[in-house]
Amino acid sequence: DLWEAKGHIRFDDVLFGYSADRVILPHFSLDIPAGQTIALVGTTGAGKSTLAKLVSRFYDPTRGAVTLDGVDLRSMHPKDLRRAIVMVTQEAYLFSGTVADNIALGKPDATMDEIKAAARAVGADAFIQALPDGYATDVNKRGGRVSAGQRQLISFARAFLADPAVLILDEATASLDIPSERQIQDALQTLLADRTAIIIAHRLSTVAIADRVLVMEHGEIIEDDTPEEL
Ligand code: ATP
Ligand code: MG
Repeated sequence: DLWEAKGHIRFDDVLFGYSADRVILPHFSLDIPAGQTIALVGTTGAGKSTLAKLVSRFYDPTRGAVTLDGVDLRSMHPKDLRRAIVMVTQEAYLFSGTVADNIALGKPDATMDEIKAAARAVGADAFIQALPDGYATDVNKRGGRVSAGQRQLISFARAFLADPAVLILDEATASLDIPSERQIQDALQTLLADRTAIIIAHRLSTVAIADRVLVMEHGEIIEDDTPEEL
């Protein structure tokens, strides 16, 4: 049987720096229960993306550990890890290939029906149908044929199809064109349901849908509250 992660993330007194002479996270501890949606906010350089990179194992802690369901990420099988934790970055990168291929990256053996269902779930189906060749439309490497907002929706569909226990999202800072902010919010609500999510949030509307808001400064959490209380 495939191992299924629940999505409980813990930082256990993590020390991290990109180089030995400059510590970014001095002694970072954080407990995120399975299923919780975290909005992470704070000034530029606070360490938000660094935290995201430690959860997705772009980097490992210098000291301490990041665990998933009590298991140190370093001792997990890379395949299990990739299946359990998915990061959607600001760039919402598209690979050369069709729109369908790009969505299916989240699940290489997906059927066309599953690909379309994922696109529908996040509200990407309509604009995809309107492309010259629909789902078979070729996107070039930098996503030239689709707008930034559409690229984001395609990457949401990809993440929805992958269905990870933990989703990390570095929200785009630039204001998006079509699809609208509202459409992105609706897509987000669908995407976040039934999984742990860490969103580096730049929009107030995103902060509002989180269960918990963390404010970071100089590699530390200076506020930890519900959106209502902040
Ligand atoms: P922003 O809101 O601007 O995205 P952030 O909170 O995501 O900021 P990080 O990207 O985590 O901040 O950066 C935290 C600190 O780590 C900054 O001082 C930054 O210069 C440094 N840093 C980030 N990435 C690297 C890297 N690859 N190599 C060296 N230093 C880095
Ligand atoms: Mg960042």
